[in-house]
Amino acid sequence: MLSERRAKIVATIGPSLSTREALKQAIESGLNVARLNFSHGTHEDHLFTIQTIRELSKELKAPVTLLQDLQGPKIRVGQFKDGSITLAEGETVTISHQIKEGEPGKIPTDFEHIATVCKPGVKILMDDGLFELLVEDIKGPNVICKVIYGGELKNRKGINLPGLDLPIDCLTPKDRVDLEFGLKNNVDYIALSFVRRGQDMEVLRSLVNEKNPKVKLIAKIEMLEAIDNLEEIIRLSDAVMVARGDLAIEVGHSTLPAMQKKIIALCNEMDRPVITATQMLDSMVHNPRPTRAEVTDVANAVLDGSDALMLSAETASGDHPFKCISTMHEIIREVESGEGFYYYDISLDREDVSVPQSVAASACLTAMKISATAIVCLTTTGKTATLISGFRPRARVIAMTKNQDTLNRLELPWGIQTFSIEQYQSTDEAIEHVEEVLLKYGLVQEGNKIVLTLGVPVLSKAKTNSIIVHTIKGSSSPLSQDELPLRCRL
Ligand code: PGA
Ligand code: MN
Repeated sequence: MLSERRAKIVATIGPSLSTREALKQAIESGLNVARLNFSHGTHEDHLFTIQTIRELSKELKAPVTLLQDLQGPKIRVGQFKDGSITLAEGETVTISHQIKEGEPGKIPTDFEHIATVCKPGVKILMDDGLFELLVEDIKGPNVICKVIYGGELKNRKGINLPGLDLPIDCLTPKDRVDLEFGLKNNVDYIALSFVRRGQDMEVLRSLVNEKNPKVKLIAKIEMLEAIDNLEEIIRLSDAVMVARGDLAIEVGHSTLPAMQKKIIALCNEMDRPVITATQMLDSMVHNPRPTRAEVTDVANAVLDGSDALMLSAETASGDHPFKCISTMHEIIREVESGEGFYYYDISLDREDVSVPQSVAASACLTAMKISATAIVCLTTTGKTATLISGFRPRARVIAMTKNQDTLNRLELPWGIQTFSIEQYQSTDEAIEHVEEVLLKYGLVQEGNKIVLTLGVPVLSKAKTNSIIVHTIKGSSSPLSQDELPLRCRL
């Protein structure tokens, strides 16, 4: 059963998942969150993905979170006359905003402040950190560098300037146009790249709030500056991504594992879902099997406390997109059923604990003590379910609501399973509906105990304030396999 896996899978959509059939197979293989990468693809491509996933989601009764990933202020190399140049070790090259077309020894860039932010001694990295240049001199608009590690530098590759304070806006004009498109097409989450401070998230929040305040925001942690402002950024975000691709370049490879653990731990503590991203199964872009190091990396990211793990090129442009998803699924399942995984991480060791947080903790504690089969959250916004997920209960976390947008958004946090439920008029009726759905979907049996959280009185739409323990009495039989929601099928 797909829903037995608790950590979620984010898969990046791209040429390898560009047809309806492929998207369907990706969801069937275990995709929970579809990441639309706005560094690539046209609006037409993204619109096709959005519409197709929404249709498939209904057809398969499998909510999917749509995550729009904005490119952010990525600095790039410009175009070369011949498409690329060769950087030879020890060679002197010039980088400049003034160079229109690149040629050997001359590298154009779209970043107009390059000569003012760079100083002799600064390191410049290109193409995901593959190439390294050392700044030796600045002459007007030209940055003169020596090549330390070279190779073939192609058009439009990324540039990283680790540790430099860059005078650039957190949202480029392209991001603003893309954002408008995403909001118009009702994406569930928006991720911002190269976030440096809390204020970047506030800028995005106010733009998003004008159109749809329910949309959730993700900060991608991939800059050294973001590490300095980590707590503030997390507080101002709804979820976080450990964007290891750029982060590794910024902080240096050897500090990455510690950074990953630190960011995840803080997100866990602050009740923010966290995604671990990039190169998780990188060799599977071309190979049908992962390396031992990759299997171990996926497992460790789960043990670190990630809510979700992300696939990038593996699913976007790789040769085995479905195999990557199912491999990730299997590794996660194995870790979660093994000895190293600890459920029920319940603690309220913090200064201010809200009503929803204490209800969530109490529901988890009760579920643990009575070995409940499921914790069912009757919810409107999904807030209680997300808090409950943070305590990592062994009991299934099931969120039920009429609101389809909430169902879609809850596919990201750890362990949450979502079902729609008819409107109920009383607490008794709510319990009756819940029992019926769980039995029909084969998730409980007669005699199982479940813990419910809900707002009472139900008719006045009260916020979650109550916990009920219920023992399943009925024994109606489950639906047939094809009638079941996809993730409840065997
Ligand atoms: P990207 O972000 O794939 O958009 O660069 C993720 C990362 O940097 O790891
Ligand atoms: Mn990145």
